[in-house]
Amino acid sequence: MLSAIISLIALPYAPNALEPVISRETIEYHYGKHLQTYVDNLNKLVAGTEFEAMPLEEIVAKSQGAIFNNAGQILNHNLYFTQFKPYTIEQSAIINDQLPIFKAIIRDFGSFEAFLAEFEQKGTTLFGSGWVWLSADKDGKLVITQEPNAGNPVTKGLKPLLTMDVWEHAYYIDYRNRRAAHLHSLWQIINWDEINRRYTE
Ligand code: MN
Repeated sequence: MLSAIISLIALPYAPNALEPVISRETIEYHYGKHLQTYVDNLNKLVAGTEFEAMPLEEIVAKSQGAIFNNAGQILNHNLYFTQFKPYTIEQSAIINDQLPIFKAIIRDFGSFEAFLAEFEQKGTTLFGSGWVWLSADKDGKLVITQEPNAGNPVTKGLKPLLTMDVWEHAYYIDYRNRRAAHLHSLWQIINWDEINRRYTE
């Protein structure tokens, strides 16, 4: 009998808590079906291989092909789904500039607005499926990178902090082809305490 070594993460909010930015229906498909399928595929693919019982980040660092694609997508989605918090009307205006992550953003991008603009521009211009990332290098300097398909900045030695999924499955139910509008709306539900935790841990 196959033992599941990688399991589906739990969401830190209710399936409808991100509405209207991300609908319950999108969560049901994106988390409940797409991510679940990557988890099921990876458990089948690693059974009996050197990757069985390896931590997810190590699988991503050492694998290629189908194992990399499924492991990368699980790592990416785990970081993606756990960076959000429930939508509230007031939230989008709240920037706590005492948090180290905000100080670093202003240091490395000039202003918070310049950071938002570069991030959205890189997400909008990423051709095809993939992910746009905010990461920290080994010195703590922040960078925004585009990764195609299942790519994750850990393969470049960077620490991933925040990501937006530009695969169409992430937004097509709610936004149809309007990727830029979807990316812009996501700032309203980013849990900056979690991004700061990742940055400072
Ligand atoms: Mn996705």
